[in-house]
Amino acid sequence: MKAHDGMYIGGQWRPAATTDTIAVVNPADEQVIAHVPAGTAEDVDAAVRAARAAFPAWAATPPAERAARLTALRDELARRQDLIAETVTAELGAPPALARAVHTGMPLLVAGSYAELAADYAFEESIGNSTVLMEPVGVVAAITPWNYPLHQVVAKVAPALAAGCTVVLKPAEDTPLTAQLFAEAVHDAGVPAGVFNLVTGLGPVAGQALAAHEDVDLVSFTGSTAVGKRIGATAGAAIKRVALELGGKSANVVLPGADLAKAVNVGIANVMSNSGQTCSAWTRMLVHKDHYDEAVALAVAAVAKYVPGDRVGPLVNAEQRRRVRGYIEKGIAEGARLVAGGPDAPLETGYYVSPTVFADVTPGMTIAQEEIFGPVVCLMKYEDEDDALALANGTVYGLAGAVWAGDEAQAVAFARRMDTGQVDINGGRFNPLAPFGGYKQSGVGRELGPHGLAEYLQTKSLQF
Ligand code: NAP
Ligand code: MG
Repeated sequence: MKAHDGMYIGGQWRPAATTDTIAVVNPADEQVIAHVPAGTAEDVDAAVRAARAAFPAWAATPPAERAARLTALRDELARRQDLIAETVTAELGAPPALARAVHTGMPLLVAGSYAELAADYAFEESIGNSTVLMEPVGVVAAITPWNYPLHQVVAKVAPALAAGCTVVLKPAEDTPLTAQLFAEAVHDAGVPAGVFNLVTGLGPVAGQALAAHEDVDLVSFTGSTAVGKRIGATAGAAIKRVALELGGKSANVVLPGADLAKAVNVGIANVMSNSGQTCSAWTRMLVHKDHYDEAVALAVAAVAKYVPGDRVGPLVNAEQRRRVRGYIEKGIAEGARLVAGGPDAPLETGYYVSPTVFADVTPGMTIAQEEIFGPVVCLMKYEDEDDALALANGTVYGLAGAVWAGDEAQAVAFARRMDTGQVDINGGRFNPLAPFGGYKQSGVGRELGPHGLAEYLQTKSLQF
């Protein structure tokens, strides 16, 4: 595939500081499809300087003009829809239908939402004898993962630009080509030079240099808890703002009286989508003891429809496949009942994992507690609602979840008691304006909609 051999800094593609490169691999056939430059601290420094230089003018740009640039960005992304979907398929392995509907469609919605918010948001409010100004935080370091290569970028860059911040992006090493297409769209949208900058590179090199750079005001990170903790510590020590979107182990709670077949089918689909590589996936299915055996049978039937290489893509790389298979082996070793799938590779080539269902998972098991990030569902049995709640809240995470009940009020009452940032009631639809983010160790801060925009603002109070 076509790739830029430089960094997008200060409004142009510039040679990188070294000639080192990163190979981009198609996880479906394990072939190298491109190389991108491996950025160093020197590239990061150049990008942060460009972002700093561009900040005063962009911060002073009227919101209506920022909104116009974001509308143009949305249109430039829409113009590249086919190429973006092909690129996500090539570097992530997402099946074409998913690449188009979700990996391309969702970021278009989010970019559009921030074009509107930039125009409509109240960047000023009155409180008593004060006028409160919402001012941009400054230079933003955005560090993104590979699981939703464009969405994760847009969910940070669009609100940052809407707020009047400037940005340096370090995308995941596995999916830099989508990030380069995003940079092209930003350029063609007429966003002024230096407002958005892209440095491709490795996490411990370019990512670390960016998170630690003294001229960065806010670090927004999405990825693993391990790296998030380090970034939070570094940012805290430097008194920088930080937003962390980390892992999850979300519960799909099926209360008695729910439409069991629907709850199980939607629940399985939720985990199988993107091969289970979704931080908000409902990876634990909680079912009342009276409906449990029927739910297991329904789950086994449902998962059979997810054929690797067809509806389910590979995992992103060999390391993720190794990790996920390790969890499946651990589940078996710790006594969970394997009812579908297993650790064996379903296809000879590509980083595929068999869609897997475990029954009789108990809270003490590793697979009940840790984020697997693969097509693996854990079914857990509960005695009553309090027991279900204890299970649902019984992990260090709290990112998302679902509740199904015959009576919507009963589902809402249960959702109120859940320690988690989002709950879908009886299959509620994704809302690109609703705040997304974690309770507990799932993170700090919120993305999307007006709450996501507020992350990039700081207040200044004028008293009269
Ligand atoms: P990761 O290492 O945390 O990657 C996220 C981003 O951080 C990437 O851009 C990465 O660069 C960068 N990074 C890595 N080390 C860094 C450092 N020391 N300083 C600054 N930036 C750094 O995640 P991963 O290794 O790709 O995935 C591992 C696990 O994380 C998954 O199995 C899953 O459990 C979880 N995960 C969660 C999400 C989510 O949406 N919450 C997304 C992805 C992964 P490189 O790409 O070069 O590593
Ligand atoms: Mg990594």
